[in-house]
Amino acid sequence: MPTGAHGQVPGAGALLAILRDGQARTRGELAELTGLSRSTVSQRLDGLMDHRWVVAGEGAISSGGRPATVFAFNGGARVVLSADLGATHARLAVLDLGLTVLAERAVEMPVDQGPERTLGCVVDTFHELLAATGRDPVQVCGVGVGLPGPVEHASGRPANPPIMPGWDGFAVPEWLGARLGAPVLVDNDVNIMALGEHWAARPEVDHLIFIKMGTGIGCGIITGRRLHRGAQGAAGDVGHVRVPASDAPCRCGNTGCLEAVAGGASMAAALRAAGVEARGGRDVVALMRAGDLRATRLVRQAGREVGAVMAAIVNFFNPSVIVIGGDLAEAGEQVLAGVRETIYSRSLPLATQHLSIRVSELGDRAGVIGAAVMVVEHVLSPETIDRIVTK
Ligand SMILES: [Zn+2]
Repeated sequence: MPTGAHGQVPGAGALLAILRDGQARTRGELAELTGLSRSTVSQRLDGLMDHRWVVAGEGAISSGGRPATVFAFNGGARVVLSADLGATHARLAVLDLGLTVLAERAVEMPVDQGPERTLGCVVDTFHELLAATGRDPVQVCGVGVGLPGPVEHASGRPANPPIMPGWDGFAVPEWLGARLGAPVLVDNDVNIMALGEHWAARPEVDHLIFIKMGTGIGCGIITGRRLHRGAQGAAGDVGHVRVPASDAPCRCGNTGCLEAVAGGASMAAALRAAGVEARGGRDVVALMRAGDLRATRLVRQAGREVGAVMAAIVNFFNPSVIVIGGDLAEAGEQVLAGVRETIYSRSLPLATQHLSIRVSELGDRAGVIGAAVMVVEHVLSPETIDRIVTK
């Protein structure tokens, strides 16, 4: 008998993991892929079908003249609720298990009104979106939330978030779980965006770095196809890396941080100092598009500054894909040019030989898709499925 990754016989969860690529397969094909006997495969499929994770259908006509029964992943079996909260706006969605968006809404929802008002608004919006899809709340298998600040991974609670007054240590998973009746997973916005882009980058890439260039700057790290959160969940906080030859004051109290020279807020401040009205990164990009040369220079230079920090990370980490997201990613080639220029000139040739550097594919949907990825990976993990499906 062959053994699985943990030295055990492949369970129902391993079968489901195979079928999640969307391809329908016969019992014989699944037996061959897992090394299990056909009768064991049948038994596990029955268990998966009892929970509606898998559905049976007719496949191609076999040599015997009868259509073979094939088994496919049932992406519609449950739904996931997903929320990507920013400083002032949020995007919420209902998705199926195949990560198709069934209903979606972008709303104004400032996080500085505190956790209970903000999350109350999240719950109300989820109920409206569920009603719009015609799905019953009992079909919700999990809730994913991205927050614009540091989150302690083990507890899912915000940890000293600078722009979220009243949220420090707030029990977000418990509060939402009690009202939505499903497990709640919480992470910071950059990590969920990295998960979303990694999912969008199929076929699978092993090592990917997502850089969010917005008001602040941070990165999400995918290594070995998994999110690397670090010991406390603080991995990827590159916004406060010291940039040589700068003494610009940063909101963290230090000077010369990457964020203080290349963040959207600092660029907007530089334009205001020159007499141009700009409130943040979005305005800087809008000015650049309108042909403002100062804005264009600032965007290019921000790309170079971020590229210089990333060059060191490329040498250290050797990713195969770097994705730029956030408000500044809207600047497209102008920001990419600066990032690429510095990374290619300062990283080792071996590390950049096959390196792809591009802007986000999902744009402002990266967060809601990624929060749903986080939930689906948890709910459909072979360990979880094996606990539920005991056949
Ligand atoms: Zn700083």
